[in-house]
Amino acid sequence: MVTYRSTRGRAPEIGFADTLLGGLAPDGGLYLPDAWPSLDGLPEGDYSAVAAAVMAPFVAGSIDQDSFVEMVAEAYATFRHAEVCPLVELEDGHYLLELFHGPTLAFKDVALQLVGRLFDHELRRRNERITIVGATSGDTGSAAMDSVRGSELIDMVILFPQGRTSEVQRRQMTTLDAPNVHAVAIDGTFDDCQDLVKAMFADEPFRDRVRLSAVNSINWARVMAQLVYYVWAVQQLGRGQQPTTFCVPTGNFGNVFAGHGARRMGLPVDRLIVASNTNDILTRLLVSGEMRAEQVVPTLSPSMDIQISSNLERLLFELLGEDGAATEALLRTFRQTGVAALTSDQHQQLVAEFVGGRCSDDETLSIIADVQQRHGMLVDPHTAVGIGTARAQRRADETVVTLATAHPAKFPDAVEQATGIRPALPEHLADLFERDEQVSRLPNDLTMVEDFVESVRR
Ligand SMILES: *Cc1c(COP(=O)(O)O)cnc(C)c1O
Repeated sequence: MVTYRSTRGRAPEIGFADTLLGGLAPDGGLYLPDAWPSLDGLPEGDYSAVAAAVMAPFVAGSIDQDSFVEMVAEAYATFRHAEVCPLVELEDGHYLLELFHGPTLAFKDVALQLVGRLFDHELRRRNERITIVGATSGDTGSAAMDSVRGSELIDMVILFPQGRTSEVQRRQMTTLDAPNVHAVAIDGTFDDCQDLVKAMFADEPFRDRVRLSAVNSINWARVMAQLVYYVWAVQQLGRGQQPTTFCVPTGNFGNVFAGHGARRMGLPVDRLIVASNTNDILTRLLVSGEMRAEQVVPTLSPSMDIQISSNLERLLFELLGEDGAATEALLRTFRQTGVAALTSDQHQQLVAEFVGGRCSDDETLSIIADVQQRHGMLVDPHTAVGIGTARAQRRADETVVTLATAHPAKFPDAVEQATGIRPALPEHLADLFERDEQVSRLPNDLTMVEDFVESVRR
């Protein structure tokens, strides 16, 4: 049975269900399995079968097997494509893995459709209920709301910065029409929304009264669910044990860390290419061995506009010899000074597995245009950053799978700017712009937001 330990080394080891509901470890660290289970060959069958097989050892002893298989099947039945995450060949030896066929059109659905069901299942078993609050700059909020809508045991309040998300993103949050999910437009920035969430967690009486919880990107269950599509892509390629390189448009490092996890389980992964936009702290880390924070610059790929990639902590823990105290010290230095350096051994170990690359907004637009002209295919700006980086880094004869993280219709302005074509929303969202919006607007004020949360929870 897999147990989970914290990257800061000062929290008790716990089982899967406790990491699920707990999110962050009590010492401030992130959970990792104490040992990576091995893949016993490549699982056969459709996406749900592969998913159940890959994840089974991670949940064993904590979630009963039959319920788990059922939840996996239900989660992926919400995807509009029969193959769930289809693999398509873009050009010779370069493939796209389309992760955007879920309800809210971004890869976040792959993990969250399952995680929402796991939460509901575990709360039912414990006879508990919770209130989840979160802050979003766009994609995570809608995916999280969709994943728990209708749950009897979960109330969810998502804060977003008024006027700063795309219209598609906002409407995906405000038109869900379910009694337990609530979108709140805050008069402020994304950082203000995040600070409000942190302040609610710091307010102990409030936190206990509403039984506050979170589903943010550091939750282990999200990484676990993302491991699956690396295994799936290799199975679909049918190249047996020949290694495959993956290129991953990266923000919080959750997606690409899952690729690393798949390799630790024995999947034949060659290199992991970390693709960034102008916010390229990870590319610079790979080149220099030094993390140096800079101001976040808004780009055409907003879900990657991040300077401090929270999931990087999991990889740092491994690079630092699984030393929790050393991990904590390195991150403290980084927080206090904005700079932290790896030793040359640690840097060598990092570049043996990961390669970095970046695309500016101009390059992103020209890739979207080029892919449309050459292949008649529309790609979103995040995927375009991946394609551009993969093309630049690819060696002759290397098989590369680039992860396509969002549907082009989720970011129609950039796609139209590049190609003159406005991508159409898929059928299930075709009437998104006619649906009634339900949204509360609140000032950037903790008491008013807390009062709102208390008034809507059931
Ligand atoms: C969240 C997101 C990313 C970044 O993924 P991380 O796991 O944070 O690295 C990339 N593209 C899209 C479309 C996203 O929504």
